[in-house]
Amino acid sequence: MYLKRILYFSRKLIYSSKQISTMSTFTSRTNIVTGNNDWVFVDDDNFDYQQELARSAFADMLHDHERNIQYEKAIIKTINTLSKTIDRIHVLDIGTGTGLLSMMAARALNSSCSSRITACEVFQPMAKIAKKCIERNGFNDRIRVIDKRSTELDLNRDLEGDRINMIVAEVFDTELIGEGALRTFSEACKHLTIDKDNLRIIPARAIIYIQLVESSFLQEFHTLKNLLNEEKRIQIPLDCRNLAGDTIFDLNVNEIKDNIRPLSKPIPIFDFDFKSINDKNNFTEEKIFKNISCETDGQIDAFIMWWNLDMDEDGEIQLGTIPIWCYDDPEKAKHIQWREHWIHGIYYPQQSKQIKAKEEIDLYCFHDEYSLYFDVGSSPFPSRSFTPAFLSRSAMAGFNNDKRRNKYIEGLKKSFSNSSINRCLYIGDGLLLPLLVLEMYPHIELIIFQSSNIHLVQTLKAILENSSNQCNYRFISSLDKDTIDFQNLDMILSEPFFTKSILPWDNLHFYYLLQQQQQHSNIKLFPQKARIRCIALEFDNLHKIRSPVHQCCQFDLTPFDQQILGASLNVDAMIEPQSLFEYSSKKPTLSPIIDLIEIDFQKNYQDKIEKNHFDIPITADGICNGIAFWIDYQLEENLWLTTGIENENDSWVNYSKQGVHLLLKPLKIKSGMKLSINAGFNFQQGQFLFDILS
Ligand code: SAH
Repeated sequence: MYLKRILYFSRKLIYSSKQISTMSTFTSRTNIVTGNNDWVFVDDDNFDYQQELARSAFADMLHDHERNIQYEKAIIKTINTLSKTIDRIHVLDIGTGTGLLSMMAARALNSSCSSRITACEVFQPMAKIAKKCIERNGFNDRIRVIDKRSTELDLNRDLEGDRINMIVAEVFDTELIGEGALRTFSEACKHLTIDKDNLRIIPARAIIYIQLVESSFLQEFHTLKNLLNEEKRIQIPLDCRNLAGDTIFDLNVNEIKDNIRPLSKPIPIFDFDFKSINDKNNFTEEKIFKNISCETDGQIDAFIMWWNLDMDEDGEIQLGTIPIWCYDDPEKAKHIQWREHWIHGIYYPQQSKQIKAKEEIDLYCFHDEYSLYFDVGSSPFPSRSFTPAFLSRSAMAGFNNDKRRNKYIEGLKKSFSNSSINRCLYIGDGLLLPLLVLEMYPHIELIIFQSSNIHLVQTLKAILENSSNQCNYRFISSLDKDTIDFQNLDMILSEPFFTKSILPWDNLHFYYLLQQQQQHSNIKLFPQKARIRCIALEFDNLHKIRSPVHQCCQFDLTPFDQQILGASLNVDAMIEPQSLFEYSSKKPTLSPIIDLIEIDFQKNYQDKIEKNHFDIPITADGICNGIAFWIDYQLEENLWLTTGIENENDSWVNYSKQGVHLLLKPLKIKSGMKLSINAGFNFQQGQFLFDILS
């Protein structure tokens, strides 16, 4: 079973999570009516599998010009060197994808040297695409594709005993080792290759770097901060603060560089020689660097991680993910390759630490087979157990974001001042709103129904138990009339937020929970309404993850495009979750914000399908390559809380993902034109509906 990377053919988890074995695949869909994740079995050829492929960001890697060029340079150089000393080269391309690196090797191998190329690919639909691309480019008699994981290859059965003397592999993710690169190289060297001295691996080596940084912006995604109320009856205990766990937070730091203050120089932490991977202790390694110092005073809030590859044996050809501010040459930094498939890793210390310039501290570094961990302080470091994530990074930011918090405070003040409220029901997985209500209104009785996440129930209980005992609350585990009497309620509150939500409107599960209650119609609701909004955009880069590849390094990869495009055309206009604060787009925006549908939580829309035609007025010239969608909640009259933007040229909020439709065929548009769409909501199925008409 292949578990660690949830979607191993795309860097980020796109829309649905998935567990893959070589035999079968399950994919999960959020059902907002029931609030459950439905697991669906999918196979290679069916609809859901096509959706997965369409939603993968595989193409982004093929658009990564720098990556492709550095691989090809290293392949040519290595083949030229090897062919001077040996008369037969057997290349193994591990994780061939579209067959790209094998075809580069085939092109570089001149006919004077006898050669053989074997390509392997574990993901079956991709192996089929590789065969088609290789055939399209006329290499099918020179490259053999085996649809297996490299660690399952048998020297005699699969390679006829013909040992490998050159490996090419691009099996790296943002964290370098998260796709299992350590075992991949180690096993190949152990079972399939000739002796180390004569073996060449592309890339030859890798170094992982980190930099210690101060950033309240990054802290917002990691540590729950206390409520700001002066009374502070409710305190968040230390052990309840890091609900996003120890997993990497992957982010393109170049896009948020103004929010980061580097404190130290880049520090090389781990180096890997891919010919000699140490497989002791299950590929784990621990290092403590004594006497690390920073160059300026500050607070160590986070570690930023990146890596660099020596592509060839001499380390002449380099490829890496160095952040923009670490470039020596500002000219080079201007032409930095935008990429989505390899970005940067953010890790957090157990606690932020104040330091003075030149003060000496110890740095703890650890990796297992797939992940990295860092901490800072003084040795000995307490033994750490890996903490899993119970809340997403954006949900953590949702708890901490001051603007959002202040909106709730303002909304609560208005609601509570207008009517006499004694007993409230809170529905949802958000932690902020119940804590704010109990902090601000000690006389209130709050009944808390958290539907899905037992760990969050325990956390909320722990926070409340740790606080002064004046809070009046109780938890319930169902909304049955035996458990709760709706007639005695004065108010029902929700952020609304449910941990299973993926797209913004998945939180409308709140509406469905209300509909199950007959008697809710006279009770005050908070929020009262929701509206789904959209805007037309020209992304600077994000659209590339879906654009067709056509040619890559003069190889025709249209069989790959056809498969992705075919899959995309088979599914509805696709809206995927993205944190848009990570992706720049042209300003001014191409259109104003358009309201598509309003949902009043007091109303029952029965099983209606509400779909309307909209002409989006275009207000700037440009190329429309994306439409962003989000949801706003009306907390009180004239008080809306957004999960996207309030005004056209605002920055996107960091505490919620938005929905994005990336146009397969971007539209060249001019101010004064109109973009026609249909949009609406299918209330029976809880589905947002959307089509572009022009
Ligand atoms: N080599 C291609 C694709 C790189 S993406 C290119 O450079 O464009 C990495 C691919 O490797 C994915 O398709 C993934 O499914 C595959 N993969 C990762 N580890 C593998 C392994 N150990 N054996 C076979 N395939 C692997």
